Amino acid sequence: MHIVTDFAVLIIEFAIVEGSFIKISLLFLRLTFFWMGTIKKIAVLTSGGDSPGMNAAIRSVVRTCAYMKIDCVGIYRGYEGMIEGDFKEMDARSVNNIINKGGTILKSARCDDFRTEKGREKAHKQLLKAGIDAFVVIGGDGSFTGAMFFNQEFDFPVIGIPGTIDNDIFGTTFTLGFDTALNTVVEAIDKIRDTASSHNRLFFIEVMGRDVGHIALNAGVGAGAEEILIPEENLGLDRLLDSLKRSKKSGKSSSIVIVAEGDKTGKNVFELKEYVEEHLPIYDVRVSVLGHMQRGGSPSCYDRVLASRMGVKAVESLLEGKTNLMVGVQDNKLILTPIEKAIKGHTKIDKELIRVSEIMTT
Ligand code: ADP
Repeated sequence: MHIVTDFAVLIIEFAIVEGSFIKISLLFLRLTFFWMGTIKKIAVLTSGGDSPGMNAAIRSVVRTCAYMKIDCVGIYRGYEGMIEGDFKEMDARSVNNIINKGGTILKSARCDDFRTEKGREKAHKQLLKAGIDAFVVIGGDGSFTGAMFFNQEFDFPVIGIPGTIDNDIFGTTFTLGFDTALNTVVEAIDKIRDTASSHNRLFFIEVMGRDVGHIALNAGVGAGAEEILIPEENLGLDRLLDSLKRSKKSGKSSSIVIVAEGDKTGKNVFELKEYVEEHLPIYDVRVSVLGHMQRGGSPSCYDRVLASRMGVKAVESLLEGKTNLMVGVQDNKLILTPIEKAIKGHTKIDKELIRVSEIMTT
């Protein structure tokens, strides 16, 4: 197998040096993948929480399969559809005009059956019945955990693509949908700031992110928030009051405080409002919970490009005989991380950005 891969790499290197040979070399590469593999049919599914960029990733997986001359099957409704055999053959034309669409054309679902061995056994039977040799799962750490068990139990080739706005998966600096969500949140905060400054108000804005504060920190810096409350840095309520007092003294007429949903002050965003109103009656406080709008919308260019790159890498990796890995991006290069590792940790919060946010609130 490795000899064949090395041969393919040699061809690419030759093609780069000798530009005119590029077409013939790529043809060789496709044929090489075709001959070497036991994988002739790949399935793709979206699972768990949806995120912008999932459609672009589906498109990339489907088109890469078409390019490599192997079959591709879409699985509807995540693992639920896998268990029920809700499959559809897909070709390059099945994914026309979806790169710009939010959500997922394959739908997503949460499926308790798949958490059990029996459920996964049913899913395995459905895949075998449909002649599927491997699958690419686009989802978050829950979906990857399911894929890992499936791989271990049936020695079935799987590759994960991280699709979640929370950016909470180890092994990638960016997950699909994170960049789009940031742009959505910043746009919303800009609008809230207009009304906040017209009325000299303080706004608490809750953003998504589950247990991590990546959305809050990045969107907070991008939208010029006065304070950012994230689970990674519990600043405490006293510090929040001090900061708001300073802000008022320095002449700011309105203030925006971004609160990550997983924030650890021990108070939710409505309780924070009451607390601040009680201790700082000078403030007229309002709350805005942005909610599910953060998961929707047309994906940003960054997410579309990342999805396209990850889809190609996922299919190529399966064809090279790799499995139980997640595709990620680091320093703008695609990397592969064992799923087992990806689900165990989070990408660390950017300490430099925390410092920048502190300086910007002066
Ligand atoms: P996400 O993938 O966005 O983290 P979930 O945590 O809801 O979303 O997981 C999506 C699906 O993955 C679940 O509905 C279930 O079918 C499967 N899954 C999650 N955790 C496990 C697990 N421990 N074992 C098997 N399957 C799991």
